[in-house]
Amino acid sequence: MALDVSNPSAGIGSNSESLITPILPRLSNQRTLKSSIGCSGIGLHSGVRVAMKLHPAPANSGIIFKRVDLVGGGSEIPARWDRIADSRMCTVLATESGISVATVEHLLAAFYGMGIDNALIELNGPEVPAMDGSAAPFVFLMECAGIREQKETRRAMRILQPVVYRNGTKEVGLSPSDSSLTVDFEIRFAAAAVGRQSCQFNIARDIFKSEISKSRTFGFLSDVTALREAGLARGGSLENAIVVDGDRILNEGGLRHSDEFVRHKALDAVGDLFLTGHRIIGHFHGICSSHADTANLLRMVFADDANWELIDAPIEEESPGEDWIQPLQEAAIG
Ligand SMILES: [Zn+2]
Repeated sequence: MALDVSNPSAGIGSNSESLITPILPRLSNQRTLKSSIGCSGIGLHSGVRVAMKLHPAPANSGIIFKRVDLVGGGSEIPARWDRIADSRMCTVLATESGISVATVEHLLAAFYGMGIDNALIELNGPEVPAMDGSAAPFVFLMECAGIREQKETRRAMRILQPVVYRNGTKEVGLSPSDSSLTVDFEIRFAAAAVGRQSCQFNIARDIFKSEISKSRTFGFLSDVTALREAGLARGGSLENAIVVDGDRILNEGGLRHSDEFVRHKALDAVGDLFLTGHRIIGHFHGICSSHADTANLLRMVFADDANWELIDAPIEEESPGEDWIQPLQEAAIG
């Protein structure tokens, strides 16, 4: 570094100081909602109408679900990997006493994608409303409620060594990366309307919102009877899922992206990965994998402390001009 001798104001003092001060990454603060907001809708699997309210929550509380239709204590369910009770078709969380909430993954993906660390979600039923089968309605709710910075520094989970879970031809893995979470997904289906698709995204907020959040869940017409007999997909319809029959999409409006199916799998992965309780510095890949495979991957990651560490989270890249996020200083006044 050269001293600027032509500028006396750039004196020895300031330059020598900058030479000995290490350059530290700017750290990011935790975030919550600015206000409460609600919606209601049908649960994809239960078919039950549920009212849901999203509330701000204190720093370090994470995402917590609360069943307000049940009396007594113990009805709060933290969104954590060790609360996964079922992951056959969606991710179900439950307390030790068996109080559960189903289909949390699209809402959790929206929280992750929008950079919200702490929130309380009240539900008067057993399942998060399906809305349109994507995370976009939840993103809209969060934008309407606003987002507020909190004063506590965010802690991120950095992956230190590759962890891979294989299940036949399916595979999921997390591996170290210098950047914030990237997701790589590949699917292969016999149905010609889906076929083979792959995608890769860096889960920054603008990318999540524009490229991932609108992608809907999907199902196959041939599976509907079996799913309903198993007590699943009771609330599923063309209103909240893409329905595929061979080479045909039965939804009148067609697809939102030509590769909407694999984008939805990336969305699911982001939601399930938020069950770590943290934003992730690492790379995720999924090959034909399901919620159950991701749940097994998380169990493997947490089984060995050498796989991960918590660090003060550096600022992530964000899209410019999103002034609806209330910064800390203003939040402290208001
Ligand atoms: Zn999904």
